[in-house]
Amino acid sequence: MNTLRIIIAWVAFAAVAHADPLHVVCATNDLGAIARAVTGPEARIDVAARPDRDPHAFEVRPSTVRNAGKADIYLEVGLSLDLWSVDVVRGSRNRNLVVVTCADAIQPIEVPTGRVDASMGDVHSEGNPHYWLDPVNAISVARLLAERFAQVDPARVETYPANAEAFALRIEERLPVWRARLEGRSFIEFHRSWGYLAERFSMRIAGRVEPLPGIPPGARHLAALAELIREQQIPLVVRDVYHTASAVEFLARETGVRSAVLPTSCDEPTPEAFLAHFDRVADVLGMPIEGPGSGESR
Ligand SMILES: [Zn+2]
Repeated sequence: MNTLRIIIAWVAFAAVAHADPLHVVCATNDLGAIARAVTGPEARIDVAARPDRDPHAFEVRPSTVRNAGKADIYLEVGLSLDLWSVDVVRGSRNRNLVVVTCADAIQPIEVPTGRVDASMGDVHSEGNPHYWLDPVNAISVARLLAERFAQVDPARVETYPANAEAFALRIEERLPVWRARLEGRSFIEFHRSWGYLAERFSMRIAGRVEPLPGIPPGARHLAALAELIREQQIPLVVRDVYHTASAVEFLARETGVRSAVLPTSCDEPTPEAFLAHFDRVADVLGMPIEGPGSGESR
């Protein structure tokens, strides 16, 4: 009888111990948003990179490393975008930290064929790492996270997949709205950021301010781009907040093309902010085409 009581007490204790909410550290707000959609409100989620900083070249904060030291799971973007994630994981000295490479959930585009060297730019050597900018890829990431979270936290083995599917539904409901605004649009991007979005919604990226990822444009490249904008009547150039404005201002001055600041990350690590980001993307990239000289908008 006593033994039975001890067993019951132990089982009850074990259930409570495993019921501790997950602690997830994420490389970016976008992964944080997808993670939050899958965990629900109880988990603790910390984010390493601020959305207004270049995620290719981010300086890890000591607080992020400390958080990873106590966390259950670390989510990295992968495809060589956040090479600094290695510093977080190593620095955490957390032997139990489960590292999930979220790029494993998606099919990369723009994978270079043949030899890759420094002449091809300093990033994107494994394909385009900006995959979270296709909302359908976010569904794939959510499903991968549901699997991994359940492995670490079997007490919620049914919750995580259910949450992932609820998130998938919210995205699928919005897809026709975004498609209606974006399909067929052309624009110039600053960095090779928007390829996944363009592919999803049948858009055309007519050119790039950076001649190669991470390489600033020279005068000859900008002159050629200005020519292309005039010839093809491209209505819009977008840049992220951390991209220098001068090249875009030059193009606007030369051609009258409209320019806009369009972040590549959502403002907050929440599913609401993730969806709102695509509403903003649709507002900016799907804006009615106006006459030239309407200035930079955000
Ligand atoms: Zn990039």
